[in-house]
Amino acid sequence: MTNFEKISKRIDSYEKDMIELQGILTAIPALSPVNGGEGEVKKAEAIIEYLKGMNFSEILELNAPDESAPCGYRPNIIAIYKGKSSKKTIWIMTHMDIVPPGDLNMWETDPYKIEVKDGKIYGRGTEDNQQSLVSSIFGLKGFIDEGLLPEYDVGLVFVADEETGSQFGLGHILKEYKKFRPEDYILVPDSGNFDGSMIEVAEKSILWVQFTTKGKQCHASHPAKGINSFRAASHLVVKLDELYKIFPNINNLFAPPISTFEPTKKEGNVPNINTIPGKDIFCLDCRILPEYPLEDVIKTIKNMCNDIEKTFNVKIEMDFPNKEEAAPPTQADAPVVKAVSESIRSVYKVEPVPMGIGGGTVAALFRKAGFSAVCCSKHDELAHQPNEYCKIKNIIDEAKMFAHLMLQE
Ligand SMILES: [Zn+2]
Repeated sequence: MTNFEKISKRIDSYEKDMIELQGILTAIPALSPVNGGEGEVKKAEAIIEYLKGMNFSEILELNAPDESAPCGYRPNIIAIYKGKSSKKTIWIMTHMDIVPPGDLNMWETDPYKIEVKDGKIYGRGTEDNQQSLVSSIFGLKGFIDEGLLPEYDVGLVFVADEETGSQFGLGHILKEYKKFRPEDYILVPDSGNFDGSMIEVAEKSILWVQFTTKGKQCHASHPAKGINSFRAASHLVVKLDELYKIFPNINNLFAPPISTFEPTKKEGNVPNINTIPGKDIFCLDCRILPEYPLEDVIKTIKNMCNDIEKTFNVKIEMDFPNKEEAAPPTQADAPVVKAVSESIRSVYKVEPVPMGIGGGTVAALFRKAGFSAVCCSKHDELAHQPNEYCKIKNIIDEAKMFAHLMLQE
């Protein structure tokens, strides 16, 4: 039997323990204070208790001060397990916090009490992000119980605050903890797909623009006495379509492979039909390929606004409710991508596909700090939904994938 086969068999035997740990974690609603909770402190205590029996060389608690949490901080845990060599570290980072269950009528079970049905564990957080959290622990436990060592050091990282901005989670860690190295492998198994083939390596920049067009209100029977802000805004919204031609690059790492510029929200202007609206507000959602600097896009939009202002004698103000420049992508041929691909191929028996996504993930914080990080997970994409579940088989498969990666030379 190869070492992987031994560990794999051992991981199969953990099914009951995995379900038990999912039950313990689900029963502690780790909601961030902005979502009306007390934070992750009790969940962190339960995880530390669990890790204590596992021979970690170091279990570091990195608390981020947060006055809005009853205990005054948000917990983060870094647990280091020594491998054969310390030349690099395989990091697996998962988050402890959950999102609220939402409308309880939509749930068929108690969101905070797991129920096991047809090979699935139901409960809030069971998939996002406890599936991978549990897998990371049991992937490593396979080595311990078989008396084997991972090829390199393994770092399990459990963070707070992923769902509400990461300021008290990974953001805090990157400020305080200086032991990540460029040659390390960093995995953030918090987004993925049903067969585990997707490896997320990049994201687009996000730009939300709110346009407030100001004209002059008057009676609709005498339009010349006013300035119709709605007409001007309508010409602007049509003009903004030109952005697709001005920023036309195709990048097949992404789906869709182009930058997108879509008018979305439209606020009401006047409540009655016989008034020329003096003020009009609409919004644009842009997802821009990382090769275009956001400032170039903003400048182009500004010029379009200037043209409309001149033509229609209006004033247009731009606000940016969301403006997030994409992190430099992790290269599709980076060592971490190659290694993870190899493990995905061997364990899941699918062909891995490195790809970019349209919205930000927490892995972007690593990339912005200069580290290569990838997101991948084998799950049914139930994050934030009612009746969230995770398949027991996926916990086991993912634990094996992590173990396979830890065995790679
Ligand atoms: Zn998540």
